Amino acid sequence: MSAPLNPLSVESLRERFKQGLPDTSVATDAADLEHYGKDWTKVYVPAPALIAFPKSTGEVSQILRFCNDEGFAVVPSGGRTGLSGGAVAARGEVVLSLSRMNRIGEIDPVSSTVRVEAGAVTEAVHQAALPFGLTWPIDFASKGSSQVGGNISTNAGGVKVIRYGLTRQWVLGLTVVLMDGRILELNGALEKNQSGIDLRQWFIGSEGILGVVTEAVLKLTRVPVKHDVYFFALESLDRVYELFLQARQGPFTVSAFECLSHACLESVTAHLGLAAPFAARSAQYVLLETEPGARPEESEAWLTRIFEEGIVVDGVQAQSPREATDLWKLREGISESLSARAQVHKHDISLPISMLRSFLAEWEPRVREENPDFGLFIFGHIGDGNLHVNIQKPDSIAKDDFLARVKVIDEALFPLVKKYHGSISAEHGIGLLKKPWLSFTRTAEEIALMKQLKQTLDPRGLLNPGKVL
Ligand SMILES: Cc1cc2nc3c(=O)[nH]c(=O)nc-3n(C[C@H](O)[C@H](O)[C@H](O)COP(=O)(O)OP(=O)(O)OC[C@H]3O[C@@H](n4cnc5c(N)ncnc54)[C@H](O)[C@@H]3O)c2cc1C
Repeated sequence: MSAPLNPLSVESLRERFKQGLPDTSVATDAADLEHYGKDWTKVYVPAPALIAFPKSTGEVSQILRFCNDEGFAVVPSGGRTGLSGGAVAARGEVVLSLSRMNRIGEIDPVSSTVRVEAGAVTEAVHQAALPFGLTWPIDFASKGSSQVGGNISTNAGGVKVIRYGLTRQWVLGLTVVLMDGRILELNGALEKNQSGIDLRQWFIGSEGILGVVTEAVLKLTRVPVKHDVYFFALESLDRVYELFLQARQGPFTVSAFECLSHACLESVTAHLGLAAPFAARSAQYVLLETEPGARPEESEAWLTRIFEEGIVVDGVQAQSPREATDLWKLREGISESLSARAQVHKHDISLPISMLRSFLAEWEPRVREENPDFGLFIFGHIGDGNLHVNIQKPDSIAKDDFLARVKVIDEALFPLVKKYHGSISAEHGIGLLKKPWLSFTRTAEEIALMKQLKQTLDPRGLLNPGKVL
């Protein structure tokens, strides 16, 4: 553990906590500390002092006020599927787990809203809304574990951003507790409310450094009547772009446009024991999901044309929901397949779509040439300009050598992202992992303003300290 953030030894802190908050459920055994002290990055050694499990907004307020008075650092914790170390507690912090605040209220089909507690699991919200023909359209591979509070605090994206936008668009109201215990009710269930600054937006995407989200009113949308899912093989990234353009102009609504390289396909099929959809190898693959228009013959004509024009070399269309799920596994299983095999250094960058190719043409060959032993896996939400770049450690080198070499890669990558007017974090957040690189994406003036806001809301710097800023 690097220098502890709390003024007392772990034992004294626990004792003080028990005296000050005798009714709060707390865990201190080694397995819980390990479990709740880390997220999916798995690169930090978890070392929290204790885990607190509040059951209401009022209790969160009591805990935060107490910790603020005592000078105890607190880490808000959701499903810990984060990929930037935002929920990591490695320095004797109090972890505030929202997992027991997981109630999902009545679905209101007239206003298409639902009030939920922050610990509600993303997929559980989907399931609750489904009988009403509704959904909360925040969708990605970790939805079975991630929580609404974590989704809001990371302004999560995912595979449907091209259709629905980010989490921000689907949050009407928030209940937030500040570090000194003050409770803010922000925007209720209002769609329209132009009455001064929209404070709710401060907390969406701020990775738990400004306040703890305890409840939210979520906006829901209708579940589409039908989805068509296609998986295409293409000979180059240029062809992927052509297909994207054709899909955007196609006789349907695009609900996902995901791209993966052959190395990604090999990794995921080997890991899941699935057959590759095509006998021949191609450079790129695209998973296209559409909401078809009223005339199926128009989609068929569109398909015929993209084959005739040589934009795709092969393709399959799911003929059943089960086949659609299997095709989606080829995309959604990639991250897990890479981590299961070896240590992975991950990047989640975004660029203006028009610059993706020039960026990759400049970056990828150089990395491959300098690191021929590394596995390089590139996939992502190409329709949003978001690339997930994954570098896998070869068995032949030690962890420290790997980290030293990926640092060199990072030092070249981030200036290039800046050159192409991109972002060092498209959707995973800054957390601990990307903090040293924040200035490649945000100006000194922006960072200074963020620090002022943090100082205003958390003057003692006790809420998620060391993260983002
Ligand atoms: C396989 C896999 C695929 C993924 N795919 C995507 C993807 O496509 N798109 C995407 O955006 N992300 C993706 N992620 C990342 C992750 O799932 C999201 O960032 C998710 O929103 C995190 O939610 P969580 O509940 O797990 O949050 P956590 O990891 O627990 O926390 C994330 C951050 O939010 C803070 N936080 C958590 N709860 C609260 C709260 N109630 N109040 C205040 N702050 C809080 C934490 O302190 C931390 O800084 C993926 C992760 C995995 C493992």
